[in-house]
Amino acid sequence: MNMEKSEKLYRKARNLLPGGVSSPVRAIKPYPFYTVRAEGSKLYDVDGNEYIDYCMGYGPLILGHRNPTIQQAIAEQMEKGWLYGTPTPSELDMAQMIADAFESIEMVRFVNSGSEATMSALRIARGFTGKEKVIKIEGGFHGAHDAVLVKAGSGATTHGVPNSMGVPVDFVKNTLQVPYNDVEALIELIEKNRDNVACLIMEPVMGNSGLILPKDGYLKEVRRVTEENDVLLIFDEVITGFRVSYGGAQDYYGVHSDLTTLGKIAGGGLPFGIVGGKEEIMEHLSPSGKVYQAGTFNGNPLVLAAGLATLRFLRNNDVYGYLEQCGKELNKGINDTIHDLKLEYNLSSLGSMFCLFFGETPGNYEEALQCDKDRFLQFFYELLKEGIFFPPSQYETCFISYAHETEDIQKTIEAVHVCLKRL
Ligand SMILES: *Cc1c(COP(=O)(O)O)cnc(C)c1O
Repeated sequence: MNMEKSEKLYRKARNLLPGGVSSPVRAIKPYPFYTVRAEGSKLYDVDGNEYIDYCMGYGPLILGHRNPTIQQAIAEQMEKGWLYGTPTPSELDMAQMIADAFESIEMVRFVNSGSEATMSALRIARGFTGKEKVIKIEGGFHGAHDAVLVKAGSGATTHGVPNSMGVPVDFVKNTLQVPYNDVEALIELIEKNRDNVACLIMEPVMGNSGLILPKDGYLKEVRRVTEENDVLLIFDEVITGFRVSYGGAQDYYGVHSDLTTLGKIAGGGLPFGIVGGKEEIMEHLSPSGKVYQAGTFNGNPLVLAAGLATLRFLRNNDVYGYLEQCGKELNKGINDTIHDLKLEYNLSSLGSMFCLFFGETPGNYEEALQCDKDRFLQFFYELLKEGIFFPPSQYETCFISYAHETEDIQKTIEAVHVCLKRL
């Protein structure tokens, strides 16, 4: 496999971008491949290599790369301008579609990324309740802002410890943590901080420590406990929204949050974030309330065009049925390989999301850390040589898109077999 041009570009990038990349997950050693084109299920790099993509922009591209319907919607909006600085009819269309999709949402605020959405959700929760502390799940990811950049680990469950330099301890002393799938720990933490917990923010299905599924009844218990203690429940559905089902994980599991954050798929591949909830809570946002939030690009018409086209496509086609079927096929193939080669690896999956754990199936972050992440990386490199692009970490989730075809799935199953055997 020729990677000459990518290698050369990376050498230059090292002098222009910290670590040579614009976001840390993209830093593949010894150098990443540089993409120049994408189509359907595939990425094409500057050296002419082709990859079946399971990263899919880290989640947003549920319809695959360069879906013609989305492309047309963007092109049509381009003819009419792409930033107005005034209200637009399309923001009402989008707000209505979100409210129709999520039983727990009546009102929304559009922002520009998932990070912004969670930042705003925490502020709303604190403004609404008048309480200061927030609880997150160990290993949960909610973007890269101060309040949620707290290291996971047992010592951090009572007092937040920053895991990024540049985050003052004072900024995260109100961020508490509990392990996923552990209701007792949540009850204990809430009781210890009685009357000062504004909210629990969590991914209903963890997608950023690999893929970790909720145990039977866990989400319902979380809902009950938060409700009984006047703690707002924020489901961060930036990955799971429109992925696990059209109405997100909350519709799939039948458990509804007080506030919901969305992004990724909802923007059709353009930068987007949404925070939504019941009117009673959302009305606290400026200008109707005293919780401030603003943004030059909020509700950007180009993003809304791409997002609306995506949601309409999802509503009008049996995308989820197709993804489910592809997922099943791929799972079976990979599980057969694991079985044939007598490996102690485990595949975690939900619809179009999957993650091959090099170890036991984890129920929380601590358990996920036990996996052999170095061996996973070797596997990742082997797959790349076979023209298959998985996200370059044990702790990312793979995504199947509507553009993946049976041929892609078969090729992937064979490649996984070959690569696991070679390790
Ligand atoms: C990706 C992600 C975010 C951050 O979204 P950005 O658009 O990258 O800022 C927040 N929460 C979850 C669950 C995510 O997966």
